[in-house]
Amino acid sequence: MKIKKISHIGLAVADLEPVRRMYTELLGLPLDHEEMLGELKIAFVPVGQTNLELVQSTDPEGVMAKYVAKKGEGIHHIALEVEDIHQAVEELKAKGMEMIDQKPRPGAHGATIAFLHPRATHGVMIELVEPGHSD
Ligand code: ZN
Repeated sequence: MKIKKISHIGLAVADLEPVRRMYTELLGLPLDHEEMLGELKIAFVPVGQTNLELVQSTDPEGVMAKYVAKKGEGIHHIALEVEDIHQAVEELKAKGMEMIDQKPRPGAHGATIAFLHPRATHGVMIELVEPGHSD
């Protein structure tokens, strides 16, 4: 498995609009793009070689909405870019890593993603990302 860099830091937000405005207007960062992924409204804010991923649930019963209700807004996960996500997931499972996603699945921005279980990563939610090839 080859980890190349921190792809993004995922931030759980209650309402995307004021957060996006804070990063773009107050901090002067660019907005890469916004999209819907299932019930999630997602915006990417590039910061040098990495990104902030702002994630808002539009479904009050959604996993991210429940997370914000319980823990508040803030850092939700760290995403590591890997060269080959299918190989990375198989390698981690073979090493006994507990995964939330047993198989890679489609993520935002055309990427393929898989989450490790925070129980097995000392409390840090880690996402593996293989970027979409349209990038
Ligand atoms: Zn993410």
